[in-house]
Amino acid sequence: MLEIKATETVREGSIFGQISTMDHEQVVICHDQPTGLKAIIGIHNTVLGPALGGTRMWPYATEEEAITDVLRLSRGMTFKNSLAGLNLGGGKAVILGNPSLKSEAFLRRFGRFIESLGGRYVTAEDVNMNTSDMEMIRMQTRHVAGLPEIKGGSGDPSPVTAYGTYMGMKAAAKKAFGSDSLNGKKIVVQGVGQVGKYLIEYLVKEGAEVMITDIFEDKLKQVAKNTGATVVDPNVIYDLNMDIYAPCALGATINDETIDRLKCKVIAGAANNQLKDEAKHGKILLEKGIVYAPDFLINAGGVINVGAEYLGGYIKEIVYQQTEKIYDTCFGILEKSEKENIPAQQAAIETAKARIEAMGRVKLPF
Ligand code: NAD
Repeated sequence: MLEIKATETVREGSIFGQISTMDHEQVVICHDQPTGLKAIIGIHNTVLGPALGGTRMWPYATEEEAITDVLRLSRGMTFKNSLAGLNLGGGKAVILGNPSLKSEAFLRRFGRFIESLGGRYVTAEDVNMNTSDMEMIRMQTRHVAGLPEIKGGSGDPSPVTAYGTYMGMKAAAKKAFGSDSLNGKKIVVQGVGQVGKYLIEYLVKEGAEVMITDIFEDKLKQVAKNTGATVVDPNVIYDLNMDIYAPCALGATINDETIDRLKCKVIAGAANNQLKDEAKHGKILLEKGIVYAPDFLINAGGVINVGAEYLGGYIKEIVYQQTEKIYDTCFGILEKSEKENIPAQQAAIETAKARIEAMGRVKLPF
């Protein structure tokens, strides 16, 4: 009999090459000719429960880019959900194309693909997807969360994300300064969007000296007027004299160009994928003695919120109590990082994996 070795089908960079390296369970390619829907659903790991993670719609330049994104993001959700203590696995979906393609038929078709997975994947909002899109998807499947509050959903998750980020920042401050008080601390918040604006309110209330920046001047002025925070130019922020840098805009802001300029003692913000190169820049932060609160750990408030909606019996106070635990988890991760002299990001991933391994009684390769 002809024997086919597993390695013969696995080429570096190919889909099987990537999913075997990152250890995904399943990747689903969805296509619908009449509506023009092209989507990919990545189910990374379901040991803890159904794979929960939002859907991102983006006009990817190539299919490879979309596949890499969904694989990387769904793996990240496994770590995030595990560390947040959720009984949910990690997944994510990407829809390829311009958001103008969205229509009821388009979103309902996408909902039918999710339904066909029988609850192995649960979706929610991400970039270019909103609560009304979730309502359309809900017409075809119950495996969706993040519906508007008036429709019985948990609504915008950003205030909860901001609260978790605030908790993570306080834990990191305790590690760096010996006290978690932010009173008098110079904090730069980059991005005054949905999460940033709520985070700024917590910081100002605690007596921090808050500097804020954004590329949208009007929004920036409005938040400054509402909170009393000081406006700074987006181009100078990496050189400012500050105690804490809070990235709440885009990813990869900690990179070769910025890392040596940062004079802060703590980095704690909501933006996803803050380290351009996880291994390299995580190690440099450790060597520089900058306390880094891993992004996927401290921005988990949003997923705690949608997770509670999906699992049923949503109670806002309980969601906030669960989000508050980010403080203790973050402090524990930072202690591990110091004790073992490993980057905080690595300490967080190891802790997330240990929880899954304990449930699945397996040694995970990813
Ligand atoms: P948002 O789009 O509402 O806000 C982002 C803000 O950043 C915008 O005001 C934008 O103008 C600004 N910005 C963009 N480029 C900038 C630059 N170069 N300099 C300064 N400001 C810039 O997004 P959000 O919902 O507030 O999310 C912020 C970050 O947190 C994102 O990375 C997001 O992925 C992440 N996140 C959000 C949630 C959530 O619940 N909303 C949950 C987890 C993670």
